[in-house]
Parts: sequence; structure tokens; C-alpha cells
Amino acid sequence: MTNSLRSLAFRCRFVVLAFAFLATTLLSSEAHAQSRTIVIDAGHGGFDRGGVPRQRVGEKNLTLDVARRLRRVLQESGYRVIMTRNSDVFVPLGERVAIANSYRNATFVSVHFNSSSRVGANGIETYYYGRDSASLAANIHRNVVAGSPSENRGIRRRGFFVLRRTKIPAVLVECGFLTNPTEASYALRPSYRQKLAEEIGRGLRGFRAPMAKPLASGSMASVDVLPQPFNGPDFVRSTSRAKHSARHSKSSRKKGSSSKKKKSSSSKKKSSSSTKKKSTED
Ligand SMILES: [Zn+2]
Repeated sequence: MTNSLRSLAFRCRFVVLAFAFLATTLLSSEAHAQSRTIVIDAGHGGFDRGGVPRQRVGEKNLTLDVARRLRRVLQESGYRVIMTRNSDVFVPLGERVAIANSYRNATFVSVHFNSSSRVGANGIETYYYGRDSASLAANIHRNVVAGSPSENRGIRRRGFFVLRRTKIPAVLVECGFLTNPTEASYALRPSYRQKLAEEIGRGLRGFRAPMAKPLASGSMASVDVLPQPFNGPDFVRSTSRAKHSARHSKSSRKKGSSSKKKKSSSSKKKSSSSTKKKSTED
């Protein structure tokens, strides 16, 4: 081997080693940045069926099913999973938040299906409140939208009780409208609920799906997007047109305050019951 060939071989080896080092550093820092504990919150439960009155396809059982599927998906990837409920029981919003906040360095994801008095309302939307939850919301939203035939209603910042009161990154996904016959038929398919779970799981793992679908025409115009750094193509700001969301937000607040009252009275009666008891971990 000539001298020049030897030095070329050395340089090549150096470049390969440098790349390997960089890749391991980046991968480990990304893995470190993601929490390994996920608190999954299946929306509603017990007497709280979710949705609007006289809704044909109930919400509470579908959210629980997606939550359980998501738990399996995450556990298979080595995550520790906490469920705010794992059966058809009513868990007050305050208790869901307390469960989430009792796990430091965890991530909270609340699973819901949407509803509207307007049968035509459709699409997937994802909510966050804390600014540090925006990128997580985007990751989850883009994966779910990419894996679903439903429309993209965008990512919205909204003060739902479970998002406002959680001290860890928190996102709420509305996986389509059960009041829309087409989206209800998707939601009733176990294979579709499995797909939803897998896509939410990909988002939680930090997989960045490209935003393939533009915002649905019913969503707000692009002039409404939030200021930097939350002005991705699918971030939208609330307006008076977001009727369902406003209703949901109000009911969340009401439930939140009533649950607080209930909680304080029930804690007097049953001082031995702790919030952690309600959570399920396995
Ligand atoms: Zn809901």
C-alpha cells in the first residue's frame, strides 16, 4: 500500500468513526429526552358516557379500548405505562391529573373521540396547553392523521382541565367524530382502533411523520395560526367557530370543579383511599 492510499484509508476510517460517534450521541440524547413513563388517560367512563346526548355510538368504551391497545404498543417498546382508568369507572378529572402529576418525568396522553350536533363535523384534532407540549402534540397529531382516512382539523392550544393542571407534557387526541356516520364506522372497527393506538404510540416515541394532509376546509384559515414557533402548517388558534371544542372545554371545567368538591368530600369519608390506587400499572 502506498503512503497516499494508507492516509486515505485512515481518513475514511476517521470519518466513519466520527459519524458513528455523532449518531450514537444524537440517538442517546433523543432517547434521554423522551420520557419512559407514559400516563394514558382513557376519556370518560362510568356514568360519564362522553359525547352528546342521544349519541348512538358511545365514547367511553372506545376510548378505553384504544387506551388498552396503546398500553400494549408502548409496553412492547419497553415503556412503563400507567392507566388513569382500566375499566368502565368514573374517574374525576382532578384525580386523573393527580395520577399524572405523581409520576415525574412522565408524559400524559388523553384519548377521546369527538362529537357534534352537526352530523357532518369530521376529522382529527389534537390539543395541548403548555408550550412544552406543542412538539409532542405535533408528533402525535401528524402520525394519527397520516394513518387515518379522516381529515386534518389541526393542532389547537386549549385549556382543558387535564391539560391545564398537569405538570408534565400533556396532549389530548380527538380521534374522529362518533356523531359522523363514516368516522363512527371507522371507530367501531377493532383494526382501526389498533391503528390509532399504533400511530399515537409512534408520536409518543418521537417519530416525526410528515404533514401530508392540509387543514380541512372547516378548520380555521392559515392567518389564524399561532405566532412562532407554533405556526406549523397544522397549528390552529381557537375562534368562535370551534363550537364543539368550546362546549367540551366548558364541560371539562365544570366537571373539574365539581370533581374537586366531590373529591374533598369523599376523601373525608374514605381517608384511606389514595389517588394512586385508581391507577393501574403493569
Ligand atoms: Zn371525550
